[in-house]
Amino acid sequence: MKPSAFEYFTASTVAEAISLLERYEDEAKIIAGGQSLVPMMNFRVAQPEVLIDINGIKELDYIRQEDDEIVIGALTRERDVELSPLVQEKCPILAEAISLIGHASIRTRGTIGGSLVHADPAAEIPVAIYGLDAKMKVVGPSGERTLEPEEFFLSYLTTSLEPSEILVEVRIPVLPQKTGWSFVELTRRRGDFYIVAVASILFMGKGGVCKEARICLGGVGPTSIRAEEAEEILAGQVITDALIEKAGQKAAEAADPESDYHASAEYRRDMTRVFVQRGLAEARNRAKGG
Ligand SMILES: Cc1cc2nc3c(=O)[nH]c(=O)nc-3n(C[C@H](O)[C@H](O)[C@H](O)COP(=O)(O)OP(=O)(O)OC[C@H]3O[C@@H](n4cnc5c(N)ncnc54)[C@H](O)[C@@H]3O)c2cc1C
Repeated sequence: MKPSAFEYFTASTVAEAISLLERYEDEAKIIAGGQSLVPMMNFRVAQPEVLIDINGIKELDYIRQEDDEIVIGALTRERDVELSPLVQEKCPILAEAISLIGHASIRTRGTIGGSLVHADPAAEIPVAIYGLDAKMKVVGPSGERTLEPEEFFLSYLTTSLEPSEILVEVRIPVLPQKTGWSFVELTRRRGDFYIVAVASILFMGKGGVCKEARICLGGVGPTSIRAEEAEEILAGQVITDALIEKAGQKAAEAADPESDYHASAEYRRDMTRVFVQRGLAEARNRAKGG
């Protein structure tokens, strides 16, 4: 299949991209890595009349630490985030999540910003971003906004970005030393989109007590979901096998899956339980230095 005809512009600054978006409004789409948009155009699921290529905006390609945050430009390639020593050290769950996306050639083109704006409910980056409580910085004609994951992601393939806004940056709090973490997913084959994914983070206090737990689920709702009641089971506790089992069951209740070609809703819910339990056991092990 070939895409329908479109006009093509390149932008070399954020201001230029915004002014093009303002001019063409709903007819225009940003293209970054093209790894989601181009297949959609080829299948004519998306038929933008105007493409605005942001690959020339070098100011959006960076990974750095600012105080207690890792700050990543929207145009940074998934592979660069995955292999960044800073991300691997300070935010390893994100590097792990990205390593599970498709194949290396896709990650070499695909960008962190493109994955977030595409908002696929079976994508790895949004699950990690929810779990990490990261913030998205977007810029448009009337200035800048910083959005929490719950404000940014609205539904399947839908964010709260206005037609003339672009995502410019992701800000991720650094994980403290000895934080336990895990990113696990169920796929039929390595590189496939997942059926269920789970990000678990255990913030540890004194005496092996978990101060705060975060459990984030992917593939079981229109956006990623924080399993808050399951998190509460673990907060303030020494994490035992019995608590992990209970938290897995509670997290499965928070899942809101639908049946589709890949798996039934019942299967997704049960695999949520299994993968939360597996993920929490791995996170506990890492918190102990294992
Ligand atoms: C074979 C294959 C397998 C894949 N497997 C996986 C997988 O297992 N897991 C997974 O998570 N992903 C997978 N992907 C998708 C991949 O991760 C994409 O790269 C990513 O989802 C989109 O990033 P991109 O930079 O290519 O965005 P593009 O395709 O260029 O754009 C995607 C959308 O985001 C918008 N956009 C992009 N950047 C911005 C911005 N800065 N501001 C505003 N709007 C913007 C575009 O207008 C478009 O609507 C796969 C892709 C392919 C082709």
